Amino acid sequence: MLVGHIAVGLAAKRITPHVSLGTTVLAALLPDLLWCVFLLTGIEHVELKAGLGAVNYLGVSDIAYSHSLLMDAAWGALLAGAYFLTRHYARGAWVLFAAVLSHWLLDFVAHGPDMALAPGVDRHFGLGLWNSVAATVVVEGVMWLLAIIVYVRATRPKGRTGVYAFWIVIVLLTVAWHGNIAGPPPASVRAMAASSLIFFSCVVAWAYWMNRLRPACYNSV
Ligand SMILES: [Zn+2]
Repeated sequence: MLVGHIAVGLAAKRITPHVSLGTTVLAALLPDLLWCVFLLTGIEHVELKAGLGAVNYLGVSDIAYSHSLLMDAAWGALLAGAYFLTRHYARGAWVLFAAVLSHWLLDFVAHGPDMALAPGVDRHFGLGLWNSVAATVVVEGVMWLLAIIVYVRATRPKGRTGVYAFWIVIVLLTVAWHGNIAGPPPASVRAMAASSLIFFSCVVAWAYWMNRLRPACYNSV
């Protein structure tokens, strides 16, 4: 899943306006960022096959350090703990923990059976939403649309940059998402991991920038 995770980051900003959008998006994408690093360092492995869409071209995988339920809870606890130690804001820390954990849940819905409960546990799960481009467009697309509406209503752009830089990237992300679910495979696992790492890092940087350009226009309940 791609924009579904970013949707969680956008929606989390509505729940915790004091937490930067960059941090909520970082939390929602953290397992994918770790996945890129672990692939590049040889800790995790995937195989590429012929076929269109990530569900078809991503073959046998061992991604339990970035994408198992136990490890995502641990990464979430680490991020939330670091946030709480520096900001002393418990509500924000809990939302960040939930955002990291939501990654497992959403990938469990989207992926084929490659989602583990913990490293070393051989049973894998996944509902395979990705198998249908149409179903993915509907389910993930509705999440994406709702999150954009929630975020736009919860923030006010300071100037034109806060409008254009937001909407241009939203369009680019939507195009990238379609390439992810229906496009051709990347040239190699290494190229995929490196380009994805740059892509996810840019999305997080953009979210920190948006947080400055589009402040929250209400206080949390
Ligand atoms: Zn993922």
